[in-house]
Formats: sequence, C-alpha cells, structure tokens
Amino acid sequence: MTRRPDDTSPGADAAVASETPRGELRLDPLTGEWVNIVGHRQARPNLPSAGCPFCVGGLEAPEPYEVRWFANRWPALAPGAPVDFAEIESAPEAPRVAARASVPAVGASEVVLFSPEHGQSLAGLPFAQVRKVIDLWAERTEALLSRAEIEYVLVFENRGREVGATIDHPHGQIYGYPFVPPAPARELRQGAGGCAVCRDLALELESGARIVTECGDWVAWVPFASGYSYGMRFAPRAHIGSLPALDERSRDDLAHLLGDALGRLDRLWPATDTADRFPYLLWFHQAPASGGDGWHVHAHVAPPFRAPGVPRYVASGELGSGTLSNTVVPEDAAAALRDA
Ligand SMILES: [Zn+2]
Ligand SMILES: [Zn+2]
Ligand SMILES: [Zn+2]
Repeated sequence: MTRRPDDTSPGADAAVASETPRGELRLDPLTGEWVNIVGHRQARPNLPSAGCPFCVGGLEAPEPYEVRWFANRWPALAPGAPVDFAEIESAPEAPRVAARASVPAVGASEVVLFSPEHGQSLAGLPFAQVRKVIDLWAERTEALLSRAEIEYVLVFENRGREVGATIDHPHGQIYGYPFVPPAPARELRQGAGGCAVCRDLALELESGARIVTECGDWVAWVPFASGYSYGMRFAPRAHIGSLPALDERSRDDLAHLLGDALGRLDRLWPATDTADRFPYLLWFHQAPASGGDGWHVHAHVAPPFRAPGVPRYVASGELGSGTLSNTVVPEDAAAALRDA
C-alpha cells in the first residue's frame, strides 16, 4: 500500500490508518529480546512537500489547538488483545526457539503536538506552553496504562532531520508497549531493590562536576559514564515514579528545566535555520502499569553529533561489544553546557 507524500486528503488515509496491529513482535533467540518488525512503516511519507500536517488546518490538526495528541497513522504498535509475554518467555527454551515466537505488535503509537507554531521548539516555548505539554504527557501515560494490553509507556522526542524526524513542526511521540522494554528493566535491576537514579543523582549533587542546571526539584546533569557526547539526564530529587505522579510544583520545575537544559543545546552550536537546530533524542523512563517502588521518573537526552556537523555513529566496535565510547569527556561537556 502506498501513499504519495503530498497526498493530504483525508479519504486517502482511511485505508492506511490502522487500529489493529500490523507490526509483529519477534523474539530473538540469541538476545532473548523482542524486535518489532514493522514492514508497513516503510511506505510512510517522508518530509511532506504540500503543507505541514501539524499546522492548524493541516491533516492532523483541522481545528485550532494549544497542545494536541492523535494516534499515529503508521503505528509501530496498535491496539489489540493482550498478549501473555510471561508465559511465552517462561516456556522451555527448545520449543520456544523451535516455534519462532512471534506475536502481534499490540500497544499504542501516538503523536503529541507541542505547539501550533511551526517554527517553535520544546526549548523555545513559553513556560505555560511546556507545562501544557507535560500535562498532556501525564494524561496520555495514565490513559494508555489503563488499557489491558499496555504495560509500559515511553514518552519521547526525535528532534531534527538527522534523527529521522520527518516533519519539522515541534512534536513528540508516545509508544505504549505490551511489556517493560529492556532499557528501563535493566535500570530497575541496577537499583537492586533500592533506586539507581536516587544513588546516581546523590553522587552527582555531591560532586557538582557534571551538573548542568537545577530548576527547583529537577536537576540536569551529564552522566558520569555518558555514552553520548553532550548527553544529559534529567530527574527530580524526590523519588517519584512517573509523569502522572508529579505534583503541580514538580511539573512546573520540569517545565523550567526542559526550557533551560534543552535551550543550552540550542545555544551550544547556534543554527541559522530552525530546521538545523541541535538534533537530539529525548525519552522519559517511568513506572509501568504494574507499578513497584523502585521506579524513579527521569529523562535521557542523546545527541547524535559529537561536534557541529560531525555525526556520532554507533559503529561496529560499539554495537558489536555493547560498550559505547564517547570522545567528549563528560566533565568538559557539562562545563560547555553550563556556559552555553
Ligand atoms: Zn507545522
Ligand atoms: Zn529514586
Ligand atoms: Zn533511564
């Protein structure tokens, strides 16, 4: 099924808008991890040429809005019947491998529009507008976690064409997963019954060398062992599990912190064109539907560049070993970001 990138007539999209999973989760017998095979997403449009679908009056935003969410027309994960992953994963190894375990990619793929203004960015928005974005993230997290097939909600932003954002208009995405994905699961295990984020943040506050900025309860720092040049973490000092669990004041602090910390990335290597602003990957980790005391909401920022115009490729040595290497010393990155 194909769709011209410039085809913005609603009728043309009815056929591709999917409310049942078209992706397939396959279990890799070597890694024991699930991979989402989403062949249908190959045909999704690249940078649309005929008008922005996220501007007011565009395909995805027919009415005026302040912030807005909608289901992705090309969903990586889509609503469906719950899958019992525990049963599949606990099956004896041999039959499981023989069966080539695969299940429908159930879950959710949503798009969140941060602002009706096409040229804006999360860092450049007024405080009150970022606050609305945070409220919407929290609202969608709660709504998705209440669905039977969803166990985990990942809130994220791919900013910049370099990281695959197909539309420049300020927006992020939300994926609802049918299981706790390996990255947050690993962090929880590192807490070993306590909280790895509380421990990390306490050490950073004690040292101060890698702190970038603080806004009320929220702190931004360059991780001691940052795998990415100018990578950052954001977290509240208080051990709070999720975006919905943040109170009004903590949401205010997060709104200030996002503007402050992400604004430093914009100023680090100033761009003349808004489409060329410092690209980054940003994602929040938070508690799953089943809860648990070990979760501490926080965000990761990973820029794909290590110097202006110089991509930071994750190459064979890193992918092959699982050990990242970073050419910018975290203390130097933090100093540069403090000065930006
Ligand atoms: Zn737009
Ligand atoms: Zn904690
Ligand atoms: Zn994390």
